[in-house]
Amino acid sequence: MDRVVPSGSEAQLVSKAVPVPSIDAEDDFLGTCACGGRWSVRAEDVTPIHDHWYDALVVGCPCCGRCRRAIFDVTSFFSPPTSAWSRVTR
Ligand SMILES: [Zn+2]
Repeated sequence: MDRVVPSGSEAQLVSKAVPVPSIDAEDDFLGTCACGGRWSVRAEDVTPIHDHWYDALVVGCPCCGRCRRAIFDVTSFFSPPTSAWSRVTR
C-alpha cells in the first residue's frame, strides 16, 4: 500500500475530512462511480492528527479506471490497534 497522506498537508487534510460514525457510512458517502461500478480501495492511511483519527482513502473504479480521494474523521469509532498509540487520549 502507498502512503496516501503527503507530509505537510495536515491542515488541508483536516479541513476536508468528513466525520463518519462507521465504515459503512464511508461506503455510503463514496457511493458508486458515475459509470455504475463499485469503488475498490487502492490505498488507505489512518493518521492521528490533534487527537483525531483520519482515514484517508484512494479508491478506483475497476470498470472505467476513474480514481477518487476521500478523507474521513473516524475518531468516533476507530480504536488504535496497538498500545504504541496510548499517548493519544480522547
Ligand atoms: Zn467507473
